[in-house]
Amino acid sequence: MTPEAQDIYIDNWREAAACLDTTGVDFFPEPSDLAAISRAKAVCAGCPVADDCLTWAIETNQDDGVWGGHTPAERRAIRRRWLEEIRRAS
Ligand code: SF4
Repeated sequence: MTPEAQDIYIDNWREAAACLDTTGVDFFPEPSDLAAISRAKAVCAGCPVADDCLTWAIETNQDDGVWGGHTPAERRAIRRRWLEEIRRAS
């Protein structure tokens, strides 16, 4: 996906993001701050675009923050499986 296409795509789904109306929730907490991670994940759990958010974060390899209800470590595991599936399919 080109950077321009990424910008258009992210702008569309972000309009419905639950985190737009959230104050006081840190979506880029320190990895050791489990309470902050839980607060961010709780918002993501009720987000109508969580699947789009997670897909975008994995496809663009976002390595910080909670996206789509997943931490960077959780997304890395998903990304590894996703890349393996692509390799097997090609
Ligand atoms: S899934 Fe979480 S980080 Fe992604 S748009 Fe929704 S609330 Fe924001």
